[in-house]
Amino acid sequence: MRITDVQTTPLLVKNKEPYHWAHGVMYGAEVILVEVRTSDGVTGFGESIASPNAAGIEAFIKTAAGHLAGKSIFESRRLMRQCYHALFQAHGTCSAPRFGAQILAGLEMAILDAAGKTAGCAVHELLGGKVRETIDYFGFIQGDTAEDLAAAAARMVSDGHRVIYGKIGRGEQLDLEIIRRVREVVGKSVRLRFDPNEAWDPLTAARMIRKIAAYDIEMIEQPCGHESLHALRQIRENSPIAIAADQSVFNAADVYNAVTLGAADLIVLGLHETGGIVPFIEAAGVAAAAGVNICIHGLHETGVTTCAANQAAAVLSNLDDGNQYMNHLLVSDIISSPNLTLVDARLPVLDGPGLGFEIDPDAVARAATAYKTSAALC
Ligand SMILES: [Mg+2]
Repeated sequence: MRITDVQTTPLLVKNKEPYHWAHGVMYGAEVILVEVRTSDGVTGFGESIASPNAAGIEAFIKTAAGHLAGKSIFESRRLMRQCYHALFQAHGTCSAPRFGAQILAGLEMAILDAAGKTAGCAVHELLGGKVRETIDYFGFIQGDTAEDLAAAAARMVSDGHRVIYGKIGRGEQLDLEIIRRVREVVGKSVRLRFDPNEAWDPLTAARMIRKIAAYDIEMIEQPCGHESLHALRQIRENSPIAIAADQSVFNAADVYNAVTLGAADLIVLGLHETGGIVPFIEAAGVAAAAGVNICIHGLHETGVTTCAANQAAAVLSNLDDGNQYMNHLLVSDIISSPNLTLVDARLPVLDGPGLGFEIDPDAVARAATAYKTSAALC
């Protein structure tokens, strides 16, 4: 059960269609697959988001992995603290909690996957056991026009989604048109959430929220820049629509600041922001103490992260019922099981072993080739 080797592989898994949001267009998930091998012959898998530069992120993961040889896979908390200290504190750089979390997330997932496989149980059982049987996801509508987005919303409602979520922040007139047309096609009973991804300043947010309130919007996510929780609070205090914090919160300390300031009705958080499963659960606990729910955040990731987030979500008392799901965006996945297709907008809690998935070596090889091909073109 000692760590003998850590391997990293940059991967590119392409999207079925271009992904539009306030910061541009994205064409796929670029991740670093992390494999932690043990003295018992077990391999645990995790992934870290590879942006903005896969070679750079991979180099940091390798540096962190250099501190893991010979260590027990049942000490992930201690090991992650040691890795963070070695990379971001020991040389006087002092602090990089957000960047550090992005680096360490894949290592933490892989260590916990190996730990669960070694113990013969699901990771959520190592964490105290599940408190739910299923996880609910919103329908994440894609498209570049109001017409496309409304059509996607209609399809997702017919697939069973009770919450629809879309990206705005594309310009005021287009945003209003998107919201009007989506509400028109889904009817009154479907809950609508929209995310400007920091595109609005407080004045714009006040103006837009006044206009869209007529469409019975349940929640607006991170309307303003992430730097100021006070701006987020200012918007929330004057908003008839609930406000969620996403880019403003990465860890338990951020959640504490957000909830004590009264800046958010909902916390949107993912494993790549917190640095893995255990710090995600710690951050969720802070929100729970304030009576605030956590929504799983999605990035451009594969089923590895979906399954890891499933393990964390399984143990939360304050998990929201509109979580973010990204797998439907991918042309294919790098896991062979389980099937992550949503049924009635839900996935079951995965009962292991480890993170609950089997890797697909052929798909990993194809994604590694796709990354090399795309890197060679840059
Ligand atoms: Mg968001």
